[in-house]
Amino acid sequence: MTRSNDYAADFVDVAISMEQALDEAGIFTALHAACERMLGPTHLSGYVAALNRRTVRRAFATGMEEFPVEAIRDWLAGADGPPPVSPARPGSHPLVFHRLTSNNQPVGGFVLETATLAAEGKTVVDQLARLTSSSLLTLQRRKLSQLVLEALEQSEEAISFYDEEDGVVFSNPAYHRVFPYYPDRQGLLGARHLDLYKLDLEAGVIDDPLARSDPDAYLAERARLADRLVDSHREIQPLGGRVYIYSRVKSKTGATMSRRIDVTEQWQATAQLRERERELKELVFRDALTGLHNRAFLREHIAGITAAIEAGAVDGFGVLLIDLNDFKVVNDGYGHDAGDQVLRVVAQRISGTVGTDNVVARLGGDEFVVVLQNQTARPVLSSLARKLIATIGQPIETSARIFRMGASIGIAMSPGTGGAGIPESGTRDVLVDADVAMYATKSQRPKTSDYAFFRPAMLDALTQRRNMVDALRTAVAEQNFELHYQPRFSTHTRELLGFEALLRWRDDQGRPVPPSRFIPLLEEAGLIEQVGEWVLATACRQAQSWPAHLSIAVNVSPLQVCNPRFSMKIVETLAHTSLSPHRLELEITESVFLENEQIAIQRLTEWRNLGVRVALDDFGKGYSSLDYLSWVPVDIIKLDRTFIARFDPNAPDERVKAILRSVIDLGKALGMIVIAEGVEREDQLDLLRSIGCPQVQGFLLGRPIPLSALPLLLSKTG
Ligand code: C2E
Ligand code: CA
Ligand code: CA
Repeated sequence: MTRSNDYAADFVDVAISMEQALDEAGIFTALHAACERMLGPTHLSGYVAALNRRTVRRAFATGMEEFPVEAIRDWLAGADGPPPVSPARPGSHPLVFHRLTSNNQPVGGFVLETATLAAEGKTVVDQLARLTSSSLLTLQRRKLSQLVLEALEQSEEAISFYDEEDGVVFSNPAYHRVFPYYPDRQGLLGARHLDLYKLDLEAGVIDDPLARSDPDAYLAERARLADRLVDSHREIQPLGGRVYIYSRVKSKTGATMSRRIDVTEQWQATAQLRERERELKELVFRDALTGLHNRAFLREHIAGITAAIEAGAVDGFGVLLIDLNDFKVVNDGYGHDAGDQVLRVVAQRISGTVGTDNVVARLGGDEFVVVLQNQTARPVLSSLARKLIATIGQPIETSARIFRMGASIGIAMSPGTGGAGIPESGTRDVLVDADVAMYATKSQRPKTSDYAFFRPAMLDALTQRRNMVDALRTAVAEQNFELHYQPRFSTHTRELLGFEALLRWRDDQGRPVPPSRFIPLLEEAGLIEQVGEWVLATACRQAQSWPAHLSIAVNVSPLQVCNPRFSMKIVETLAHTSLSPHRLELEITESVFLENEQIAIQRLTEWRNLGVRVALDDFGKGYSSLDYLSWVPVDIIKLDRTFIARFDPNAPDERVKAILRSVIDLGKALGMIVIAEGVEREDQLDLLRSIGCPQVQGFLLGRPIPLSALPLLLSKTG
């Protein structure tokens, strides 16, 4: 038995015990034991393991204090140069300093005192040192993989490893929690990745439409994905009611690792977030009342088409702005419920007429907008406008009553798409253009059409109107109005019976503006109530000083009639001026019945109960039917000027005469006074006298005059 053989066995023993060492101390203990066995009595004075530059352990013997311990440690730990002390110590065993390296990197070192250290012994120490180095490295790796393994075992992520042939080599407990129907960890080893999907399909946990409808196609798709996998693949994978981020990573060798991170909660949270987002969008882009799109949406939509036009994807678009006529009457007279019902029906009718390809939005109030993409042909747009007016105009049944709504439509096209003869957009904002056109058609007098295409000239008109409204506001604030009075006479005696107060206003340049122009503006701007109260108060105050038999007639706008405030104002004015109520006449037009019959009747009755008389103005101008007179609570009928003007004495129209006569007769029978307005010629006066019209008013007998001119008139007639 040779020493070298003994050594060989010893080396194997020491290698095994070093491999089994749980820590660095264990390795050095094994080294020490090997030295003792192979070299005789040995003392391990100290060692250092300087792996990863961080771990430094030492166990220097007490006798080492005489040595520069720090220096030895630094040297062992990898300081360059020779050992800081001589290998021999007088009166003691020889010392062996040994530095351990691996790949030229210092991994530690040790100091031994041995009884003998022949040349052979030195070789033994060198070999033991090499073993120690490699054991230290292995230990380090083992520790690391132990850590990794433990991490994998405890990970919440489901992790599995596959070899190059796609067979399972590792799966952690979390993995088996995701796939409880798989064989256990041991049983799963070697199973093929794709076969696992079959198990999933059998278990019915794959929440994928393809998996449900065509499992084979799903498997094929999976195989394709696996085939194509180069580095990594990630997907959201719904499995058995939970949601995972599934990733597969392929290593250089072709082995793969799968990870599934459960993100169900986050997923639900984001799903909720998306739902919130959708709701928010709904809220932001939908009109709650009608379910149509709203103004915000419309803006975005139009911006979108405009961008598409610029990109050449869309040719252009047409816009119809629809505004209901007299919607205020529904709302104010019958309440918001009725108003809402009407708006909903109108919204449905517009959508129904326009179809789903085009966007319909409600701008708010009673304004709707239709956007027709790629549609700028005038005949198409105008025919749609007519259709819309017709359908909206069908009776609308609400819980309050049946309404018939008129509509005014303004039409505009995207800039540059007006077609032949149509100028470019004036404002570069189609909605504004359409609005201008709508406004133009609504405010045209006389009204010829319910829809209009935008024309730049309309803008001028609009600007003019705006300026006028501004000026009117100032006038209202400064009470810069005046009343003129037009006398009224008895047809037979030509006796003066009273006056009608007529509102007068001058613009900035001092030019008189006809009431037919500024009164509608006052009505639109919501100023008529205020002005009307001023007219009433002023007329009553001024009339109060006239002879007591003279009446005073005041015109009342339909908007004032509906407002209960005005009734109170009448009481107040009568009290303030102490004008006798029967001298006051309030002139209303039949449109108040058309718009809001019940409320109008109620108001007029209230006024009459005060002793005030009510006159039905402009009779014969509009829709007047004779049977009307039998139920409206009025005292006076004022025959409209156009009625009288239609009578031409050179070509007497017997029909006009007959109608005039029947109105007068009916009025008389109902106890009403009939006044003919606009009497300009003697022949008209003759006719009226011949058919028994009791009172007349007109330029022939007296034009409207300012208050200052009144005393003269009174002195002449009085
Ligand atoms: P209206 O109530 O029918 O008033 C009579 C209008 O006929 C007055 O026009 C008057 O100047 C005019 N007129 C009187 N006789 C003749 C005639 O022989 N020939 C012709 N061609 N015209 C005659 P005006 O002052 O321009 O007023 C126009 C309308 O403005 C009034 O028609 C009335 O509807 C409205 N208006 C006037 N003042 C007021 C007011 O204070 N409040 C309200 N709400 N409306 C008023
Ligand atoms: Ca009048
Ligand atoms: Ca009149």
